[in-house]
Amino acid sequence: MAVIITDSCINCDACIDECPATAIVSADDSPLEGAEFTYVKPEKCIECVDAAVPKCADVCPTEDCIVWDMPYTAEYNDHFVESDDYVIRVHKKLGLMSPEVNPQPYRENITKEQREAHVSVGETLKLYN
Ligand code: SF4
Ligand code: SF4
Repeated sequence: MAVIITDSCINCDACIDECPATAIVSADDSPLEGAEFTYVKPEKCIECVDAAVPKCADVCPTEDCIVWDMPYTAEYNDHFVESDDYVIRVHKKLGLMSPEVNPQPYRENITKEQREAHVSVGETLKLYN
């Protein structure tokens, strides 16, 4: 991924239309069984690397709702493929769009420790100041 939407999400879906990668879906469209919250598809999230801040976190009305996850790169393949927290899309020809097959850009200034701790995107990028 990239980023995770946590259980403080109020399902306003304001983030969906802001995402430049169409990586966000409502709970009703989530690939997770019985999903209660808006979901980010890690295989599509590009961490808004070309923007000043991630668009989803910038528009989200719930402070600290969106947090960092590991980069979607081969190094973290097992993190995404072996977890029940994600359902990775299967491409008709390419198969599972895992980080090894389909790595995504990520923000290098966000540390591994911040990602492992699921630090708030807004906090790291000073969205609330
Ligand atoms: S903008 Fe925030 S609260 Fe609204 S759906 Fe997205 S993550 Fe949830
Ligand atoms: S960080 Fe950017 S690309 Fe990733 S889900 Fe949020 S808006 Fe979409």
